[in-house]
Formats: sequence, structure tokens, C-alpha cells
Amino acid sequence: MTPREAVKQIKTRLLPVSDEAETEARIILAHAAGLDRARIFLSEKTLDAGTLAAVDEMVKRRLSGEPLQYILGEWSFMGLDFIVGPAALIPRQDTETLCNEALRLIKERWYKTLLDICTGTGCVAISLNKLSGISTEASDISPACVRLARENVLKNGAEATVREADLFFGASRYDIVTANPPYINDEDMTHLPEEVKREPALALAGGRDGLDLYRRIAADAAAHILPGGALVMEVGMGEADAVRALFPGRETRTVKDLNGIERVVSIDF
Ligand code: GLN
Repeated sequence: MTPREAVKQIKTRLLPVSDEAETEARIILAHAAGLDRARIFLSEKTLDAGTLAAVDEMVKRRLSGEPLQYILGEWSFMGLDFIVGPAALIPRQDTETLCNEALRLIKERWYKTLLDICTGTGCVAISLNKLSGISTEASDISPACVRLARENVLKNGAEATVREADLFFGASRYDIVTANPPYINDEDMTHLPEEVKREPALALAGGRDGLDLYRRIAADAAAHILPGGALVMEVGMGEADAVRALFPGRETRTVKDLNGIERVVSIDF
């Protein structure tokens, strides 16, 4: 079987579970064959049995509902590669909106210190550290996420301290705090897409109205952000105004993601 024939076959098998079967098929073949994704069709060479067995194994996992990212064990975000696993939310393109807004503020305002809470894989903290050089700390309540984020710091050659904490910790104050907290409301948690069900509920469930974590962050933020600093958070669809209302009297902004959804709220301190 040639790479082209294999992709066609994988695609057909994935159609029942994926809207992007062709793309996923190419990614799976490239991963199993150790080929560059953009170059899989350059060779007409017959694939060896080991590659086909690896493909079959990956397709079976995917058909059982596992997200492609967990099967690959790695995913790219902000142009960097991150180790991913079921302990943490998979880095999503939506969250690049959060990073870009934070980068804008870091550059315009010469911010020097960052804390990223609910860090998960560490993708936000690590991207911002690598792309701006800002002094970076991160926290997560889950010990498994702390381990994963530390692995990702090493993998990317970033400089960031990651600690286990329930949001803020200690008495330090920062120029900028970023967060992609769990924000899915109880009702939506009951009908998540199959792949999202494989991600940790701890990273998704935001309580009855989805805003539990924002309330806790709003209560403590001023004690941990320097005057002139900012808090930049990802929010769920339709939550931006309610999140902004948690910070009365402060300057707030909303930023839309690439789909035109209000995705990021930033608050000046
Ligand atoms: N964007 C994720 C989803 O809709 C949720 C992420 C989060 O709760 N922070 O699946």
C-alpha cells in the first residue's frame, strides 16, 4: 500500500467519528511512518508492515472516541510543540487569542512578570515566556498537570516555575495574570462532544452558570496584580459580559477569536 492509498483507507475508516477525516488521516499516517506531514505523498514506496500496524492501532483508538491529540501525545500551539495527555485540556486554537492579547499587553506596557493560573499543559505560560522573554510562573491544582507542564517547560527550553496551587499562591504580585479556567456550565457538561468527554472534567466544569472560577479569581486578583497590570482570561461563548461585570469600576475589554466569538476578557488593574 502506498501513502496515498493508506490515507484514503484511513479517511474512510474515520468518517464516522471525524469532520476532518482527511486531515486526521494524513496526520496519523505521517506520525506512524515518521514522515513530515507536508511530504507524505512524495513517496510512492510501499508502506512496511510495522507502519501499517501502527496506523491500525491509532485508528482503532480514534474510533473508540479518543481525541487525535492524546493518541499522538503531542500537539502544536503558538508554533510550539507540547506534550499532551488526559491529565490536561488539549491546547486549542481559540486559546491563541488569549496568548496574542497577552503578548500585545506585555509588549505595549513593558510587563516584566507573568503568572498563568489553571496552566494545564503549560501552553499559555510557556508560549508567552518563549515569545516575549517575560519572567514566568504558573500554577495548577492538579499534580499531574504540574508534572506535565514542567515536562513541557523542559521540552521547549522555556524558563518558567510551575507549582501546585489552587489559583493564586503566596504574596507575590505580577504585572500580568493569564487564565484559561474551566468555564462550561453544568447543563452543557451533560452533552459534551465525545472527544471532549475524554478531557478532564476538572479543566472544563465551571459550575452551574460556568462562572465559578471567574468569581474566585475576581475576589483575589487585586491582591496579586500590580497597579497598572492586567488580568487576561479566556471565556466561554456568551460569558464575556457576565465576566466583565465581575470587575465593577475597572477598565475591561473583550477580544473575539478567529470565529468571531467573544473569547477573551482583559481587565486593567
Ligand atoms: N474551549 C473548551 C471547550 O469548549 C473549554 C475550555 C475551558 O473550559 N476552559 O471544549
